[in-house]
Amino acid sequence: MASLTLFEKIILGEIPAKKVYEDEWALAFYDINPQAPVHVLVIPKKKARNFSELSAWSHEEVAHYMNAIQKTIEILAIKEKGYRLVFNTGDFGGQSVDYLHAHILGGRSLSWPPG
Ligand code: 5GP
Repeated sequence: MASLTLFEKIILGEIPAKKVYEDEWALAFYDINPQAPVHVLVIPKKKARNFSELSAWSHEEVAHYMNAIQKTIEILAIKEKGYRLVFNTGDFGGQSVDYLHAHILGGRSLSWPPG
């Protein structure tokens, strides 16, 4: 069996994380190395390696994950000012953890384009 990724270990509670939101479908927690005043990761509890693999999920499963991201944004109170949602995907996308995660970034004006 393949070894568990860091984020699977966080879901299992083997590695601690500062949780923002959790439900049956997903878990949101603060990034350990924040790139903005607010930087939270949202991971699904059903395994997917990256955003592309969501195409194999049912619409209902995708909706539950998106709903958890929306709820996290509401809890963080960044909706009004605005925020950035990022899915780094694969080598060229700069993905370092091989488990699907949404970055929610906010709390300041963010530059564009990214480096
Ligand atoms: P990626 O580069 O794959 O898009 O994002 C992975 C993210 O995971 C990075 O922003 C990194 O700071 C974060 N990260 C890495 N290790 C840990 C950890 O042990 N705990 C938490 N909360 N975040 C982590």
